[in-house]
Amino acid sequence: MTPLIEVRDLHFHYEDGTHALEGVNFVLNAGETVALFGANGSGKTTFVLHLNGVLHGEGSIRICGIPLSKETLPAIRAKIGLVFQDSDEQLFMPTVIEDVSFGPLNLGLSAEEAMAQAKAALEQVGLDHALNKAPYHLSAGEKKRAALAGVLAMNPEILLLDEPNTFLDPPGTNNLIQLLKSLPQAKLIITHDAYFAAAVANRAVFFEKGKLVAEGTVREIVERFDWNYPDFAADLRYSAQRRF
Ligand code: ADP
Repeated sequence: MTPLIEVRDLHFHYEDGTHALEGVNFVLNAGETVALFGANGSGKTTFVLHLNGVLHGEGSIRICGIPLSKETLPAIRAKIGLVFQDSDEQLFMPTVIEDVSFGPLNLGLSAEEAMAQAKAALEQVGLDHALNKAPYHLSAGEKKRAALAGVLAMNPEILLLDEPNTFLDPPGTNNLIQLLKSLPQAKLIITHDAYFAAAVANRAVFFEKGKLVAEGTVREIVERFDWNYPDFAADLRYSAQRRF
């Protein structure tokens, strides 16, 4: 089966000369959810911004078998939806329903069709009660759901999510985990959170200095790169016994 994302030998440097990607190879298949780990500055965001054509490096990128180029960009952007880390950067219309119907309207759907797709997406994320709310009145978890609905309303085949639970509390994170698990799209998720990644992803990759240096299960990658906090429960036991 054709991979949904196929990246071969991708290189990119910023105008100031920073080499942000140095020969990245990556494949995402249908049904997969992959966690993208790596230290700050290792190239994760730069990589993801290539997949929907915001940045252009050297190498080849195919999305659903279509080579990414200037000509194919509109078709590719319909297949791949990016959810920003900060929902406030994504939500910009006065009401939730206007925000979520903006994408389908932009794709050329009639007002009626766009509204129907937006309502279906808001139902899918459990926000159908908040159609007429202002996005800035929503909680962080609701904002994330609204931003996700805006992407889902365009029926993408792939979801790219940049640190989706950064601003969420633990219940908000658990809700997001359940929601993401219920969505059929393949997903590529930048995250620093090993718990979150283990709950949603069936594979993980690790970026280091602009290179994808390892892949495996979330557990294998977390253990190999020591990508977790010390044993929290053990620390709590220790501090409970300590005399101040
Ligand atoms: P990550 O998402 O893993 O934190 P980034 O992709 O943001 O990493 O950054 C990769 C490298 O590119 C870093 O060295 C970073 O400083 C650099 N970088 C990111 N954005 C820019 C930019 N707009 N101009 C110059 N260098 C940048």
